[in-house]
Amino acid sequence: MQPRDLSTHATYEAGRGVEEVAREQGRDPDEFVTLSSNENPHGPAPAAVEAIRAAASSAHAYPKASHADLTDRLAEKWDVEPDQVWLGNGGDGAIDYLSRAMLEPDDTVLVPEPGFAYYAMSARFHHGRVRTYELSKDDDFEQDPDSLLAAAECERLLYLTSPHNPSGSTASLETVERIARETADETLVVVDEAYGEFAETESGVALIEGRDGFDARDDVAVIRTFSKAYGLAGVRLGYAVVPGAWADAYARVNTPFAASELACRAGLAAVDDTDHVEQTVDSARWARDYLASTVDAPAWPSGGNFVLFDVGDGAAVAAALQDRGVIVRDCTSFGLPGCIRVSCGTESETKRAADAIDEVLAARD
Ligand code: PMP
Repeated sequence: MQPRDLSTHATYEAGRGVEEVAREQGRDPDEFVTLSSNENPHGPAPAAVEAIRAAASSAHAYPKASHADLTDRLAEKWDVEPDQVWLGNGGDGAIDYLSRAMLEPDDTVLVPEPGFAYYAMSARFHHGRVRTYELSKDDDFEQDPDSLLAAAECERLLYLTSPHNPSGSTASLETVERIARETADETLVVVDEAYGEFAETESGVALIEGRDGFDARDDVAVIRTFSKAYGLAGVRLGYAVVPGAWADAYARVNTPFAASELACRAGLAAVDDTDHVEQTVDSARWARDYLASTVDAPAWPSGGNFVLFDVGDGAAVAAALQDRGVIVRDCTSFGLPGCIRVSCGTESETKRAADAIDEVLAARD
């Protein structure tokens, strides 16, 4: 007995965790700064930690039906109806729900290359076909409507990422709107805003709802997550905001109890811990400017909580940094073997990383 042929399926390559690296090198985890997974260096929102503690003693009970208080709060935040908020196990879970809701076998899905690996993985799990559109480093990884529309055929799902991982480029609402308007009627444009809080661009929710001078669209969905600005990556909570006309579709695709009660309690508390989010966003904006202006290597402008650098040989530079106790992301698996992606840390972590990168690059000259 074997599972179906999964040999062509990509596997998810997570950033390397500090425990794994420290164990491998026989070193103390405290010697390292980990800037490889775009996590929140300030930890979870304090209110979320309290909420998890308070909910722990009720962990024997199933979650509240439909997680209504969190979806109601998120609906209020975005000024949409509660049934437009599809909670999932992280942004990844929400991506899966869109695949389930949209894809018939052999439907095609257009994904950015380089880009976040899970779009293609989820499409394949759901028997879709994957096509890619190229983002060029020479054009700052711009999600350019002309070349994207030239690549688009009759996809069922088309992914945009704003800010884009791993480059940090952003797509304006005008770009998203034009792509949605000019692609086939059956194409849903998914704007993945996992790093949305860190950017200066508006959310694609404005297109779904017809705000800011745009007509309301039923062919745009937005992905958001609690993993980044809210510091809850380990809790696994994210959501999609979908068009209003989809009514009961979520009830037909979601896993029973799409998110854990502890995650929902944490999320509900985190949404209103605005001080923590603001501090996180301010600190990330400072860190990305510091990294880009201090490190002696070409960097791309980033709207996220990370910066992509062209260092010539990403694997070698990442390995040398690891020896110096700084863990960054070698971008070879993104198809960018010359690059590293460095997450925004606290002020001291960021300064230490910048110094270490400069030392490594100077030693290679
Ligand atoms: N989208 C992008 C672009 C990401 O980089 C990530 C995580 N790194 C996600 C979605 C999913 O994050 P999560 O499942 O933790 O919400």
